[in-house]
Amino acid sequence: MARTHTCGELSSADVGKSVVLLGWVHRVRDLGGVMFLDVRDRHGITQVVVRDVQLENRAKRLRPEFVVGIVGTVEARGKDAINPKLKTGEIEIAAREIRLLNDARVPPFPINEDTAVSEEMRLRYRYLDLRRPRLQQNMILRHKAAFAVRKYFDEQGFLEIETPILTKSTPEGARDYLVPSRVRPGEFFALPQSPQIFKQILMISGLDRYFQIAKCFRDEDLRADRQPEFTQVDLEISFATENLVFEILEPLMGRLMALIGRDAPRPFRRMAYADAVASYGSDKPDLRAGMELKALSDPFATSNFSVFRSAIESGGDVRGFVIRGAARYSRKDLDNLVDEAKQLGAGGLVWARHAEGAVQSSALKAAGEDVIRRALEIAGAGPADLLVLAAGPHAATARTLGQLRLNVAKRENLLDPNRYEFLWVVDFPMFEWLEDEKRWEFMHHPFTAPLESDADRLESDPGSVRARAYDMVLNGSEIGGGSIRIHDQRLQRLVFKLLGMSDEEAKARFGFFVDALEFGTPPHGGIALGLDRITAILCGEQSIREVIAFPKTAQAVDLMAGAPSTVDPKQLRELRVRTE
Ligand code: ASP
Repeated sequence: MARTHTCGELSSADVGKSVVLLGWVHRVRDLGGVMFLDVRDRHGITQVVVRDVQLENRAKRLRPEFVVGIVGTVEARGKDAINPKLKTGEIEIAAREIRLLNDARVPPFPINEDTAVSEEMRLRYRYLDLRRPRLQQNMILRHKAAFAVRKYFDEQGFLEIETPILTKSTPEGARDYLVPSRVRPGEFFALPQSPQIFKQILMISGLDRYFQIAKCFRDEDLRADRQPEFTQVDLEISFATENLVFEILEPLMGRLMALIGRDAPRPFRRMAYADAVASYGSDKPDLRAGMELKALSDPFATSNFSVFRSAIESGGDVRGFVIRGAARYSRKDLDNLVDEAKQLGAGGLVWARHAEGAVQSSALKAAGEDVIRRALEIAGAGPADLLVLAAGPHAATARTLGQLRLNVAKRENLLDPNRYEFLWVVDFPMFEWLEDEKRWEFMHHPFTAPLESDADRLESDPGSVRARAYDMVLNGSEIGGGSIRIHDQRLQRLVFKLLGMSDEEAKARFGFFVDALEFGTPPHGGIALGLDRITAILCGEQSIREVIAFPKTAQAVDLMAGAPSTVDPKQLRELRVRTE
């Protein structure tokens, strides 16, 4: 049986045609004397009507998810029977022949209803979950996104080049997945945390512009929405500057947004890391919410409110934000807000509002009316608004308030799902101090160049050096990150040294790369975008698991395949691996 049409394409223009449809039984309705079958494939659902008694007897045996072939004639549905929700809702197929191509076990959850099914069930029977329209739509959109990426980079003169999966460790801040070598016992490959070193080498090789839709592997403690293997749109550009990278990336985002009928107006906003932290308490601010954090130390610096004053005196500050329309909050709402802030790590939270000419505040007595009034004024709080404030070390206070801001934004429905706010966060610190290990660690990766203006402080004051690194942020998600790289081998050696790597260590880990840098390396830079996250945003999904065909659980397990699993002892012997 050869199909003539998919289940999603017939319309009233096809009435009278003899057709063959192949697909799955979606639903069976037996009205006694006449039966209706909905037949489904990736393209849609078509209604089949069975009027012939003999055929009806056959059709009675059909159950959902059986695979069938239908031969019949396209008929127009009566006016009352038209289903506007269905692409094929104007027609039905009068069956002449029904062929059973395969039967099916009763599925563990219905495919034909959008019922709530536990994620464990869905992942265990992923092949059935993938039959459901929602995941089918997600896979289609993911394909379109990947295809648009390829087309765009081809137009921009990029070459798609594959880099190895069995390779040497590429540091991106996670643990490596290791693969033992059978032919070199005791030695291991590492799966790439990213193609970082290879793409830089491709620039040294003169390939000019590289991209790849690349799998990356990171063995990290899985936070809510991470996957041990994930997909990046990875690229690298010779003679790159930040502006060039942005100029290339922004229109790409426009193409991707166009897939859902949206745009990505250029140029994207840019914000220095320090400003993002000060104003939003985050290095990936969600700009949809408004509610910027304001510096409010001024009125408190000389006030009697000792908690705030001493925070300022010991080098911290007072910050706060205005919740529009929240003057209406009840005492209980306010208490809850204070508790929430404490749970987020704040020492406390002060609130203030106007109230019929006067002001109210949890710190009214301690700080005095004038100080509270000035704080409300500086923060721009109107009569209907509520101001919340906290004091302490700058970064910690900003982060706590930033988290509170997001919680409030969610509760107050300020995160409009139909708004898309793109942003570049730039000028990240080059290093962060690891207190436990008493050493500097890279913020991005060890190949990121410092800002030229800061480079002379690399050795004297590494904590103050900013990097030529940038993140692309969309609605509070970091959807991409990259940098202009170090192309000078002396500077690269110095950075390895600052990261606490001895010369021998650096040689053993990256010797090949440092060697390569010595052979005429062009200035270069690039970025990697998280294809899973971007697709999830395009699909309106919260979790990247909804846009990955075969994802792993939060415990890094593939429930369908049953991986990881034990292996044959013979394999272990060959690899000289002992498991205990
Ligand atoms: N390799 C980096 C990452 O995976 C991206 C880049 O710097 O291009 O985050």
